Amino acid sequence: MGNEIKKIDTKAIERAVEQIIAAFGEDVEREGLKGTPRRVANMYTELLSGMFEQPQKYVESLFTEDYDEIVLLRNIPFFSMCEHHLMPFIGTANVAYLPAGVVLGVSKLARIVDTFAHRLQLQERLTNQIADFLMSSVKPRGAAVVLEASHSCMTIRGIKKPGSVMVTSALRGIFIRDPRSRSEVLSLMNNDRK
Ligand SMILES: [Zn+2]
Repeated sequence: MGNEIKKIDTKAIERAVEQIIAAFGEDVEREGLKGTPRRVANMYTELLSGMFEQPQKYVESLFTEDYDEIVLLRNIPFFSMCEHHLMPFIGTANVAYLPAGVVLGVSKLARIVDTFAHRLQLQERLTNQIADFLMSSVKPRGAAVVLEASHSCMTIRGIKKPGSVMVTSALRGIFIRDPRSRSEVLSLMNNDRK
């Protein structure tokens, strides 16, 4: 990967957006459209801010703690960008792990979700990346990640099914091996839904 660009090329986005507007048959100099390439470039830069960010910084300080029950952060709002359509998918994440001697600050779980979400993504990959990152960096006994999201590429275009929600899950470690741990974490995640 050595020579990859290390940040988003906003000028190139501006030029490309200008071409898209022209391809619509529109006047790129029209008042309402004049600033649009720049606005869109800034928007993508913001929405894809995780592209060149590494979540390692969020696990630099772990805390030794003799807590051997599940830690779960539930209903973390997130948005991400479907790489097939460059349209957002928006939803909530439930992220859990079973510590093995160390815990991480709770806000860090949300930051890890954001870092991976703010990239060109597929929901399936995003789910796996969060779980795998937790396993490799925090080395817990297990990790469980469930994402639920609504994909604008299928709610407002294509098959047009507003309200449909895609659910993906990634289980690691003890949550795969031990059915009791698995059902415990999944029922904790579902606790607020009657
Ligand atoms: Zn899509």
